[in-house]
Amino acid sequence: MKVSIVGTGYVGLITGCCLSEIGHVVTCIDKDPNKIQQLQNGNIPIYEPDLDSILKKNMESNRLFFTDDIIGAVRAAEVIFIAVGTPMSESGDVDLTSVYAVANDIAPYLNNNVTIAIKSTVPVGTCEEINKIIRSFRGEEIVYNVVSNPEFLREGSAVYDAMNPDRIIIGSTDQRGLDVMKQLYNKYNCPIIETTLNASEMIKYASNAFLATKISFINAMSNLCEKLDVDITMISKGIGLDKRIGPHFLNAGVGYGGSCFPKDVKALITAAKEEGYDFKLLKEVEEVNASQRKIIVQKVLKYLLNKQGSVGVLGLAFKPNTDDMREAPSIFVIKQLQEHGIEIKAYDPIVKEQVYNHITNIKNCKEVYGALEGVDVIVLMTEWPIFLELDWEKISGLVRKKVVIDARNALNPMMLKNYGFIYEGMGRVIN
Ligand code: NAD
Repeated sequence: MKVSIVGTGYVGLITGCCLSEIGHVVTCIDKDPNKIQQLQNGNIPIYEPDLDSILKKNMESNRLFFTDDIIGAVRAAEVIFIAVGTPMSESGDVDLTSVYAVANDIAPYLNNNVTIAIKSTVPVGTCEEINKIIRSFRGEEIVYNVVSNPEFLREGSAVYDAMNPDRIIIGSTDQRGLDVMKQLYNKYNCPIIETTLNASEMIKYASNAFLATKISFINAMSNLCEKLDVDITMISKGIGLDKRIGPHFLNAGVGYGGSCFPKDVKALITAAKEEGYDFKLLKEVEEVNASQRKIIVQKVLKYLLNKQGSVGVLGLAFKPNTDDMREAPSIFVIKQLQEHGIEIKAYDPIVKEQVYNHITNIKNCKEVYGALEGVDVIVLMTEWPIFLELDWEKISGLVRKKVVIDARNALNPMMLKNYGFIYEGMGRVIN
């Protein structure tokens, strides 16, 4: 099928690469001409494992194209995805400016029988609004469908996730839209949930809110465990093996970040408020999440005499295998420490210059051991695999004081203890 994707960010680019990989002819469009030029030259503007090879392979096979000619791409398409950003506005609402702008941009050029699939995460009712926008341009002139098809990929394993989805959600008001989307995805071997537009939109928010709740639950548990001298990792293991609970998202730590969970939880709270429902559970999820970051700051300060000294931060991105700094917990923790006058050195395997868009006055080192030289406290903020294999004997000789705060419960406490380090995780008991 001929597919065009408007918005070539994390989701649009990966969707485009994966749909071309299963045989569709895909054109990705973006309003950012630099991004398009970079991609036309085979260069990827983000870090995502396996993306490079899949992109090059499908470009060479003439199944994957990049353009800023939205009119041409829309005229040629049987299916058009909208995959632009839906950030959080100041008030906690979802900012739908880009989504509606695209609906207005594409409406005059749509083909007869085209399907418009909304992949951006949008609140209940948005697809209906998009339908109205298109109808206002075209009246009954063409037959078209607006469907909801939310995305569940995880940054860091996005290509794998997009090629191996747990399920595909298709919200549609009629059979034709459903049939087109089922044909598009017919190479995937996973359940397809056919539902209404509104339910499809809500499934995405409910998924993210539930996962965020699981994270805040285990973090709250870890805070209690720390007080009662119980090791949270044992609790995670013990409850995670219960099939009704499952092992995922049960690792206590600094809390969730990234471009989705914070904004999607907030959006659901705001949507509930607009409907007169006080979603207290999710407010508490946010509260716990915010407090985890403060706990890390407190743990660090405990080891700095008169709150002076320097800290070596391992990892800046909100999770491993991505360079995405949006809502990364490291930003909050570093800024708070800086407010106390603490000097920060950092190392991240992928996040380099872009860190300065979020945090100033830090030394982002080129080499991991450089970030630990002369520091008083080491904080592990992102559990990149490289940090799990560090030479702690060497680090013993580099640091000023031997203290490690493990904000992800990822390091081996006993090994660190054997090298003479003080180790503090989140809700860990080390005997
Ligand atoms: P992004 O910011 O990485 O990419 C959005 C892209 O859209 C940008 O390249 C931007 O230039 C482009 N754009 C904006 N307005 C445009 C317009 N009018 N015309 C053409 N291009 C335009 O965002 P993202 O992370 O890919 O997220 C996209 C959507 O998918 C969001 O709603 C997000 O919540 C959702 N989502 C994201 C993820 C994730 O892990 N990033 C996962 C699932 C769902």
